[in-house]
Amino acid sequence: MNDVYDVIVVGGGQAGLAAGYYLAQTDRRFLILDLHHKVGDAWRNRYASLVLFTPRGYSSLPGMPFPGSRDGLPTKDETADYLAAYADHFNLPIQLDSQVLSIETKGSVYLIQTKHAAYRARQVIIATGPFQEPRVPDYASMLPESVFQVHSSEYQNPEQLRKGNALVVGAGNSGAQIALELSRLHQVSIATAHNPVSLPLRLLGKSIFFWFDKLGLLSASPESAIGQRIRKRPDPIFGMAFGRAIRRGVIRQVPKAVGVNGDSIVFEDGSKGRYDNIIWSTGFRPNYPWIHVPGALDHNSSLIQHGGRSPVNGLFVIGQPWQTRRSSALLGGVGKDAQAVVHMIIADQRPV
Ligand SMILES: Cc1cc2nc3c(=O)[nH]c(=O)nc-3n(C[C@H](O)[C@H](O)[C@H](O)COP(=O)(O)OP(=O)(O)OC[C@H]3O[C@@H](n4cnc5c(N)ncnc54)[C@H](O)[C@@H]3O)c2cc1C
Repeated sequence: MNDVYDVIVVGGGQAGLAAGYYLAQTDRRFLILDLHHKVGDAWRNRYASLVLFTPRGYSSLPGMPFPGSRDGLPTKDETADYLAAYADHFNLPIQLDSQVLSIETKGSVYLIQTKHAAYRARQVIIATGPFQEPRVPDYASMLPESVFQVHSSEYQNPEQLRKGNALVVGAGNSGAQIALELSRLHQVSIATAHNPVSLPLRLLGKSIFFWFDKLGLLSASPESAIGQRIRKRPDPIFGMAFGRAIRRGVIRQVPKAVGVNGDSIVFEDGSKGRYDNIIWSTGFRPNYPWIHVPGALDHNSSLIQHGGRSPVNGLFVIGQPWQTRRSSALLGGVGKDAQAVVHMIIADQRPV
């Protein structure tokens, strides 16, 4: 068992690294634990053709600008390399290959168990990302094996698919990008509960994120009138190519998928379709089976937090969607929350 750390950060993605940046400016003894082999792997493991919708100029962590043209859109590997360079540049203490298997409290300290070691800390920041467990509808298991199925988080490239047609279920940004990519090789349908709204990447010669920033949309809090309005609506699709493909019939829009009948998907209007390939772009659900801290999770297994502070003493969170603002779970927004959480940590406790 190691000495007692002041702070252990679980997760070394953008949220954990931003926390590290601010913790390194204090006298606290801290360590970041991450399950991956390399910093940036959460991005590196996403589908091959993924290009971010936020330009580089709106994708920087605190203290180190994202390299390259501010207006250009980075690839996922470029983003992964930026995170690795960030960790190196600030010499952040990260223990890789260290999946946290359990966190519990013992007296006034937290016990953190990984496969290889046990740690103790007086305060813990959970920065394991907004995307915990792929959400796939229960009826998916009723489809025969002749249908190839994959969740968007495990989708890599079109070569994974079988011959024939494909259905993408869910029209968020990932679903739209994957449907567009597949439409070059397959007959593609996309099932969606709503009519997707597309926004141009650029408007009046500037990135759409420039306008979002100017209008205060990125910093909108969940409680604000504008924040509540944005939250009620599905996320827009960034870029116009997807909308064009729907209008031209290159991608067929079908109603929300609601079940299975034999080897067919049943849609909300009662119609059915048979597909050789299905990509479930249906999001994620919270799941923290390794957090054994009474009072930390709600009945949905979500972390209970307000502005990054858990009701449990010494426990903090960074990187949750809408934690304090619209951009809390985006590269360009997580730094503000990390700074606020580190301030709370300093205010709460003296170093060991
Ligand atoms: C397809 C897609 C496109 C996106 N596009 C954009 C975009 O254009 N711009 C933008 O700003 N954002 C975008 N995002 C959103 C967001 O930036 C990312 O989801 C981001 O990765 C969240 O950062 P994070 O550090 O909170 O979590 P993650 O990046 O998920 O990092 C969490 C880290 O915690 C580690 N971890 C998890 N569990 C444990 C454990 N038990 N023990 C130890 N380590 C653990 C993981 O290994 C991982 O490294 C996109 C997301 C997706 C899925």
